[in-house]
Amino acid sequence: MVEDVTADVLDATTRYAASILAALPGRPVVPGGDVPTATDPLPVSGKGFAGALDLFARRWAPGFSASAGPRYLGFVTGGSTPAGIAGDWLAAVFDQNPAASDGSSASDLERETVRWLATMFGLGDAHAGAFVTGATMSNFVGLALAREWLGEQAGVSVADAGVAALGPVKVYSGAPHSSIHKALSMLGLGRDSLRPVPTLPDREAIDVARLAAELDGTPAIVVANAGTVNTADFDDLRALVELRSRTPFWLHVDAAFGGFAALSPSFAHLVDGLADADSICVDLHKWLNVPYDAAVQFTRRRDLQVKVFRNSAAYLGTPTENPDFVHLTPENSRRLRALATWFTLTTHGQDGHRRIVERTVDLAHRLGDLLADTPGVRLLAPVRLNVVCFTLADAPTPERVAEAARRIASSGDTFLTPTVYNGQPALRAAFSNWSTRPADLTTIHTAIANACKDL
Ligand SMILES: *Cc1c(COP(=O)(O)O)cnc(C)c1O
Repeated sequence: MVEDVTADVLDATTRYAASILAALPGRPVVPGGDVPTATDPLPVSGKGFAGALDLFARRWAPGFSASAGPRYLGFVTGGSTPAGIAGDWLAAVFDQNPAASDGSSASDLERETVRWLATMFGLGDAHAGAFVTGATMSNFVGLALAREWLGEQAGVSVADAGVAALGPVKVYSGAPHSSIHKALSMLGLGRDSLRPVPTLPDREAIDVARLAAELDGTPAIVVANAGTVNTADFDDLRALVELRSRTPFWLHVDAAFGGFAALSPSFAHLVDGLADADSICVDLHKWLNVPYDAAVQFTRRRDLQVKVFRNSAAYLGTPTENPDFVHLTPENSRRLRALATWFTLTTHGQDGHRRIVERTVDLAHRLGDLLADTPGVRLLAPVRLNVVCFTLADAPTPERVAEAARRIASSGDTFLTPTVYNGQPALRAAFSNWSTRPADLTTIHTAIANACKDL
């Protein structure tokens, strides 16, 4: 009886999910029409699963975006490979809690997956890591380790004595992602601890000579970028590593999507030096194309990680050589989010994921070439990887650029997010979905060209 009900629920869901995924490429990228108001009362007596699925399909699903589909180019938004979806579904089916290793091999699956990722990003054995929910939490963990390291330099334990024991902290970065500010706020270091470092002309990459001039020998934190969201620019990691050998700082690299450059011999030079970073952030729900939410954090100083995140309780044991994840991440109980990654890496291999990276980069270059010849638009930066950054050729005021974004979205054919680059209102198209094909480019380009033409 229970088995029958379970099988019926899963069968109905499989059929529904398959129909949604089959229709995804043709679905309006951003839905038009009315959004339901969130006011239905709590169902006191249940409608049964068929009733729930029917209500969801009618009331909520039509308002969901096609962000998992091939033509959604806003933010940096991957979709999910079918293997990733299956892994994610099985994570719920087995419903493991890889906080601790007792009685389940789930933690070992996560360890294996983290090791695969370290290999894929060229990090070797020096880095250990763990799954977290996204690049924001991965940056948070990396900066928490940086904070503890600053304590070590000053002879205090921040984990025990609190951040006040540290005094003022200086965090240097060229073009930090917004999540760095948020992480500094959460960590008690404060948003004001961030010192912007000048970038190279027409670049979002740190001017390393200017950074060297700012550092005075007091231990500090440097947040480097491997892939900025506006123009996919990369700091010169090798030069930063060399600088660190002369003056003390913790080098954290936000490689949320740019880390994937390591997969292709054509782009791997962009992340040369990554393995020498002290901590590294890589998102997985973007370019790896696993479902939200998943990212990985790496560090060479797991001892500091245990100091910060140690969760001591009699029944959890003390951290050992090979600490349980409960002692490594902000969460205690946690989902086996490594399983989606394990499935997609096992199904497609490093080669399959390299091909996704190379294909999406190629598409970005092609769109860049098309836009270079499109009246009414102007490229703002060369296409370095998977992001195309452009603006209106005439009077790119914030209002007009926002209007262009609205028109593009209302076409239903693609979705781009506005930004400000170098003080100029701009639009950016980021390619990271496994299913985007060259045929999609015509639709995408036409939507952009039409929206910008008679503005
Ligand atoms: C997306 C992104 C983040 C934040 O990632 P979330 O997954 O949204 O937490 C941080 N840094 C960079 C460079 C990003 O692209």
